[in-house]
This record gives sequence, structure tokens and C-alpha cells, in this order.
Amino acid sequence: MQAFLIMLSGLWIDLDHLLANPVFDPNRCSINFHPLHTYIAITFYILLLIPKKTRLIGLGLVIHILADTIDCSLM
Ligand SMILES: [Zn+2]
Repeated sequence: MQAFLIMLSGLWIDLDHLLANPVFDPNRCSINFHPLHTYIAITFYILLLIPKKTRLIGLGLVIHILADTIDCSLM
């Protein structure tokens, strides 16, 4: 159940990628491009890690952001 929640929040943030045109662009950095990938949003995800209730959701979101950040640094 916990892993499911983490996965779900990771998938939810992926909707952001689907709104972009083109959906996938290997030369584009998602960070600060999509509305859910801005520094303000990232700050919010980190804040979600603090309360126990939202920690798993926050974790899923932060993991997604980290994965995108790695993608960007590999360009
Ligand atoms: Zn992303």
C-alpha cells in the first residue's frame, strides 16, 4: 500500500509531461519547464516530506524530481 502511494504520486506528476508538446523530448530538461516541476513546486514537495501523513506522497514526488534532475545532468 505504501509503495503504491509513492508510485501513484510519481505517476500523477507525470501528467505534466503528457501536457507538454512534444510529450517526450530528450533534449528538454523537465525541471522548471513543466508547471509541476518548478522550484516552487519542488519546495512544496519537500515540505510534504515533513508531516507523516503526506511523507509518502512527498517521497514519490521528490524521487520523480530527482530522476528528472539526473536526466537533465546527463544531457
Ligand atoms: Zn517529471
